[in-house]
Amino acid sequence: MKIGTPKEVMKGEARVAMTPDSARQLQKLGYDCIIESGAGDAAGYSDETYKEAGVEVVKTAAALWKAADVVAKVRPPTEAEIKKSREGQLLISFFYPAQNEKLMQQAADKGASVIAMDMVPRISRAQKMDALSSMANIAGYRAVIEAGNNFGRFFTGQVTAAGKVPPAKVLVVGAGVAGLAAIGTSTSLGAITYAFDVRPEVAEQVESMGAEFVFLDFEEEQQDGAATGGYASVSSPEFAAAQLAKFRELAPEMDIVITTALIPNREAPELWTKDMVESMKPGSVIVDLAAEKGGNCKMTVMDEKIVTDNGVTIIGYTDFPSRMATQSSNLYATNIRHMMTDLTPEKDGQVVHNMEDDVIRGATIAHEKAVTFPPPPPKVQ
Ligand code: NAD
Repeated sequence: MKIGTPKEVMKGEARVAMTPDSARQLQKLGYDCIIESGAGDAAGYSDETYKEAGVEVVKTAAALWKAADVVAKVRPPTEAEIKKSREGQLLISFFYPAQNEKLMQQAADKGASVIAMDMVPRISRAQKMDALSSMANIAGYRAVIEAGNNFGRFFTGQVTAAGKVPPAKVLVVGAGVAGLAAIGTSTSLGAITYAFDVRPEVAEQVESMGAEFVFLDFEEEQQDGAATGGYASVSSPEFAAAQLAKFRELAPEMDIVITTALIPNREAPELWTKDMVESMKPGSVIVDLAAEKGGNCKMTVMDEKIVTDNGVTIIGYTDFPSRMATQSSNLYATNIRHMMTDLTPEKDGQVVHNMEDDVIRGATIAHEKAVTFPPPPPKVQ
């Protein structure tokens, strides 16, 4: 069978779902690899590097979709791309099925099978295919780098002949995958780093990375994330009020705030309010990684950088992984390659779409002309 990767059609998307390295691995699984000319350019992979890795380069997207039995891409397919798909073809990409129901139905009607990389169950066995985590890790890192780029001072404190420099103070709100990456980056740059999450079980992880966990003066326990599969649920009004009171106290002291707080299938909770922004020092920076879901700060403008009247920069970019396209393509292509390994038990270049497999079932949203989303809960935890 042939596995192919078209050029991403979304404007500004620099990632590519197949790299020369991943193509070599896919060939070891028995597949022939094809790529649309120029698909890897923005991620630093020329057509030549693919050819050297044994990949056939085709000129157009139409030719790619026609020749490939499996199409691997990054962004959800567009309607025009779904039209190019055909019965029995397998499409693997991010999809966000809950937000793209029409597209999912169109794919099912066409008879294409779809594996949504954002639906890979978050169980230990599937970590190697967990593209949400590999991309969130990059986003967390890049958020700190982007903050540093817009912050006029050092992260680390210094005593120099030209004067004493205080360390920057960084607050990371939400210590999931992206938050922990941001914390690690911030502490390694030497900033005094604080972090908060509604799930107290992450406190130990935060502290092991050299940051200080912010506890609330609150009688009720912080949320037990274990009860909701590791995800947060909506806070009680009392808890939310205690959290905001704590942030209000911290705001004037913080130089950089990175917000990453999300609750599955909901708009991002508002955690950094206008009055907090107004109490921050000029030159401070907020990076709102929740911008795509409405922002943890309602002043955030999605995909833009703004500077408030009191001189606070608020960054709402949603393309952090694409801003590090070589790295993110490497990791994403590896996630895809691991998915293909599980789909190819005989390593003979033939896909076995085993709907009895928890991971494959969980991620499959269209198969044999039917929509298969939402999946049943996984049997293995
Ligand atoms: P996410 O992107 O859904 O949310 C980011 C963080 O925001 C979470 O830590 C959440 O608790 C936090 N949050 C929500 N509301 C908040 C509020 N009001 N204030 C502060 N923080 C708030 O989460 P994620 O990064 O996708 O990770 C969620 C969980 O899944 C974590 O426990 C993670 O360790 C776990 N996980 C497990 C696996 C695996 O086992 N394979 C893989 C990835 C993630």
